[in-house]
Amino acid sequence: MAIVNGVVWSRRDASTVLVDGDRITAVGAGFEIPRGARVVDAGGASILPAFNDAHVHFLMASRALGRLDLFGVNTQAGVEDRIAAYAQAHDDDWVLGRGWFYSAFPGGMPTVELLDRLVPDRPAYLESFDAHTGWANSRALAVAGAADAGILKEEAMLTVTRRIPARGEAEDLDALRAGMQIAASQGVGSVQEAGDGLDQLPLWRALRKSGELTLRVRLAFDMTPGTEMKEWERRLDVYEQASQDRDPRISTGILKAFADGVVESHTAALLEPYADGDKPGSPLWGRDELREAVAIADRRGWQVQVHAIGDAAIRQAMDAFEGTTPGRRHRVEHIEAPHPSDIPRFARSGVIASMQPQHADPNLTEVWRRHLGPERASRGWPWREILRSGGHLAFGTDWPVVPLDPFASLAMATRKLTRDEAIEAWTSGGAYAEHADRDKGEIREGMLADITVVDLDQERVRATIVGGALVYES
Ligand SMILES: [Zn+2]
Repeated sequence: MAIVNGVVWSRRDASTVLVDGDRITAVGAGFEIPRGARVVDAGGASILPAFNDAHVHFLMASRALGRLDLFGVNTQAGVEDRIAAYAQAHDDDWVLGRGWFYSAFPGGMPTVELLDRLVPDRPAYLESFDAHTGWANSRALAVAGAADAGILKEEAMLTVTRRIPARGEAEDLDALRAGMQIAASQGVGSVQEAGDGLDQLPLWRALRKSGELTLRVRLAFDMTPGTEMKEWERRLDVYEQASQDRDPRISTGILKAFADGVVESHTAALLEPYADGDKPGSPLWGRDELREAVAIADRRGWQVQVHAIGDAAIRQAMDAFEGTTPGRRHRVEHIEAPHPSDIPRFARSGVIASMQPQHADPNLTEVWRRHLGPERASRGWPWREILRSGGHLAFGTDWPVVPLDPFASLAMATRKLTRDEAIEAWTSGGAYAEHADRDKGEIREGMLADITVVDLDQERVRATIVGGALVYES
């Protein structure tokens, strides 16, 4: 394959990229195109490493495609209309959907009574946009045997979600196929799935076997609090057993833990109380517990990624990573409201900052800001400060929390970074964060041919190539 007539990002004197098999064999200008090569005309657009989304919930997002989608609806009236219309048009046993904004409701939370009014005849369950809060109606709560549970925060969501009729493997594979098409159309060549890895391995392997896997996926295995350390060691045995088959498209080697919840439901762990409450939110792990679990995993060669949003949770994660093996590239995910004194620790310890710029969109953060108060809110999402102090950034979306849209992410990121810095965090930064920087994240000879041809100014993907195969062309 030859990609011609482009501008190689990071090597602007180069216009042509040659690919043989799954690798880039030449980058430059003016050389002869091998006879019989498939030619992709970039038409003057940029030739970038394919985007690498460092934090997604790809299966969750793919499953939600075609269901009720409340993302972006800013008023309660708008939410009501959309739910009522969907319920009328679909006669499924359950009304299922996701994406509602806290800020659409007075007080920042919906009510069971409201959903009862909108869907009185069958169970309904709708997840918040950030996937941390469940809104069920009384029929759904009754099925779960939890009539008085109210709005379901964090773990409490399981009381209802485990009662929702399970989907079959064929349905999940169809969902992933649809998800992969979206990824390809957005120039995304790699995704890093933040959790649920053990259950997902068979699905991804099935797609690989049938030759349908058009992206690279890294799967994280779950690391949960309340586990005896002996039991944790046994769980790691299982994970290691499951990851033995190496595959260039499906990788593992990382564990995902939650240190806290989210600001919007007061479940993020803060050092000082919420601005509109008297409690600071509790960390999910005991202090020594997280440190011990990380130390065991680290010793066995695992990389660990910890969801941490509040300043107390971020500090706990950074503390747990102190003294771990150099070069392990442990990660903190989200880093929404860190204490300023913890920011330089990313550079010092080599811990990666995995952040999702779209989450900082002022349209999404009204309730977030109210709960934190102006001072803490003004210091939110400090990706520039982390980068300037020498830390490593990896960007992503957290899809389905926000759309799988690298351009929206770049637009938000470049409010505080240069475009090149933001693109780096979406490409080489993501590759570094998954220990894959020897193979991807740059357009140069010898690297994997994971490439996207992008008109950056028009925010348009012209072509996406993964492992030397054209998986999208507009
Ligand atoms: Zn996530």
